[in-house]
Amino acid sequence: MNEIQETERPGSERPGSERPVVLEVKNIAKRFGGITALTDFNLTVRQGDIHCLIGPNGAGKTTVLKIIMGLYPPSAGRVELNGHNITGMKSHEVVKRGISIKMQVPGVYPDLTLRENMIIAAQNFVPKKDLDAEIDRLIKLVKIDNLGNPLVKNLSHGQQQWLEIAMALSSHPNILFLDEPAAGLGPEETQFTADLVKELNAQGMTILFIEHDMNFVRAIAKQVTVLHHGKKFAEGTLDEILSNEEVVQIYLGKQ
Ligand code: ATP
Repeated sequence: MNEIQETERPGSERPGSERPVVLEVKNIAKRFGGITALTDFNLTVRQGDIHCLIGPNGAGKTTVLKIIMGLYPPSAGRVELNGHNITGMKSHEVVKRGISIKMQVPGVYPDLTLRENMIIAAQNFVPKKDLDAEIDRLIKLVKIDNLGNPLVKNLSHGQQQWLEIAMALSSHPNILFLDEPAAGLGPEETQFTADLVKELNAQGMTILFIEHDMNFVRAIAKQVTVLHHGKKFAEGTLDEILSNEEVVQIYLGKQ
């Protein structure tokens, strides 16, 4: 993954504070029985950001995304989308309001074909007569329109990931969440995914993602938030984050 190309250095781009806030997480807490997954966590995502959540295993990253998506109710705090309170809203309502997620756990149907998977995702969002054209548009958008229509179990891991991104895009989101999009990918697939995310962003998509692969983060993230033990630990560009000695220490397991 070292050879991942940086066509430009998003990490060196100072996020424009003038861009509107699209998503705001305010003082969120989450407890699972005796486990405190998040405490007083705040996050601001601006229009056009590629914003990355990083942190050691169990830091609370996926829980943040799941609370925003309405998959878990928060124990405290508030989530606002374009200034509107969406806290605790049902997932399908959150999707309708413009957020979509590609989870870490595979969400494809391996024994169905690529197009059958796309139909399942897209049928709720376009009339039946437009379904074929919409599927053509989506698979072209993620550059898997050259694969034919195989059973999904015969696709590579990377191709399945891109199919899932196409499925997530079928709801026409303004914000796309990606939970570890580079996990398990080889160098070329990682590069393809980085280019794809940057291209979607260039077309106007705001992205919030979780990733452990720092080369991938470096290639695409404009803004990085570090979580540690369910709290915000640091925030800034990746260069700022990596020059923070305390952040380096938590990755080495010394805090
Ligand atoms: P990783 O990088 O390993 O995916 P993460 O930063 O995404 O970790 P979370 O999955 O958000 O971390 O988990 C945060 C904490 O909450 C962990 O201690 C985890 O075990 C706990 N947790 C998450 N989901 C649940 C659940 N449904 N029930 C009980 N505990 C949970």
